[in-house]
Amino acid sequence: AEHAISFEKLNKYYGDHHALRDVTLDVDHGETLVICGPSGSGKSTLIRCVNGLEAYADGALSVLGHSVGDDERELEAVRKRVGMVFQSFNLFPHLTVLENCVLPQVRGIKRSRTEATQIAMGQLGRVRVAEHAHKFPDQISGGQKQRVALARSLSLDPDIMLFDEPTSALDPEMISEVLDVMQELTRGNMTIICVTHEMGFARAVADKVILMVDGAIVEQGDPEQMFTVP
Ligand code: ADP
Ligand code: ADP
Repeated sequence: AEHAISFEKLNKYYGDHHALRDVTLDVDHGETLVICGPSGSGKSTLIRCVNGLEAYADGALSVLGHSVGDDERELEAVRKRVGMVFQSFNLFPHLTVLENCVLPQVRGIKRSRTEATQIAMGQLGRVRVAEHAHKFPDQISGGQKQRVALARSLSLDPDIMLFDEPTSALDPEMISEVLDVMQELTRGNMTIICVTHEMGFARAVADKVILMVDGAIVEQGDPEQMFTVP
């Protein structure tokens, strides 16, 4: 596949609400795409299509050469390579930070516990929460929890990361610690799609920005074009 992700005339409905309108979009390997737009414009729906969390009505979607549609095996192949971080952290409250990162590796991709632990500790270090590895989620801050959620995802070696407003549930003083580790991630060769209202961050990391309104991509460009008022 030429592009990491390729949407072609994708349409999606919730009942009679037209949530995605003829969305056509390519994301290149290693590229960081930022999606902006008002609440309810379909940003979340768009990225949830990428790992098959939402089905679409018509059009085509290809991710890392796999067609995302009805074929369960293709979907499974895609999901193995796509990580996602949401607004809410979804950590297991009864598991330690470390165990939250180890379990998906052991259960999901059949790594040995020893290897999974090593990888988890490496990723927890990368997002600067290694010293909290043996705490439980309710013993750390929201910003730390979100970084743990990121480490958990990274532990599975994704090629693509999807971020759905990862800082919008955080207290203001914790936002930058999460954006900082995300920014570091965008410098690597991962393909990233990020929905965010943090415009300074978007401008700093985006290779490409799209603006969605009412289910359609109404503008597309590089961050200079998109964030400069004419
Ligand atoms: P955004 O992420 O831009 O806020 P969403 O993709 O979450 O937008 O939602 C787009 C539109 O689709 C909104 O009008 C929302 O209310 C609607 N919507 C989202 N999810 C559902 C659902 N599961 N059922 C019905 N309508 C939905
Ligand atoms: P986000 O902005 O992250 O999409 P929302 O608060 O819009 O979060 O949606 C949270 C959940 O509720 C999602 O699973 C979404 O699909 C669902 N949802 C959103 N809008 C509607 C709706 N109008 N009817 C039913 N479910 C909805």
